[in-house]
Amino acid sequence: MAQPEWMSIFQIKTNDLPEEHSWRLQFDENIVPDSPNSGWKQYIRNTSAWFKCTSCGRGWPSNRVMVLFNMRLTEREGVVKVRTFRQNCKKCNAAPMEKPTITPDNIDILLENLVKKIRIKCYHEDLGEAQRPYQTLEVNNPHEPAHCEACIAGYCTRG
Ligand SMILES: [Zn+2]
Ligand SMILES: [Zn+2]
Repeated sequence: MAQPEWMSIFQIKTNDLPEEHSWRLQFDENIVPDSPNSGWKQYIRNTSAWFKCTSCGRGWPSNRVMVLFNMRLTEREGVVKVRTFRQNCKKCNAAPMEKPTITPDNIDILLENLVKKIRIKCYHEDLGEAQRPYQTLEVNNPHEPAHCEACIAGYCTRG
């Protein structure tokens, strides 16, 4: 269940890429960091998001939300796979992992940075490495490694 903003913002951002290729975005829960399939490039960013527990309804913000992209350009089309890492509620017992809700502004920033990476990695354009920083949320509690999917898998500390 993807937020619809992802698709519309992705279309706008990839419009500026060279016309001979169409680009599409797919969510994929199975990709993992540092093992892109052959021919695929990786891009990892951190962002902020809100989470909501489906057991108790409690919500919490986080500034440590990992987003993993894998991208590949073939002769005619480009594909981007994206996975957003989940968190679960610290108040509930065995609470289910919840997907982040990222603000449209931060989706815009993520995808703008992504398209810049595509230009560098897939079109070999000589662009600087500067990236637009994400907008942080006011977070009053420390990050909870035991309740973060990326921490549990050992990926979270980077970025
Ligand atoms: Zn809960
Ligand atoms: Zn974490």
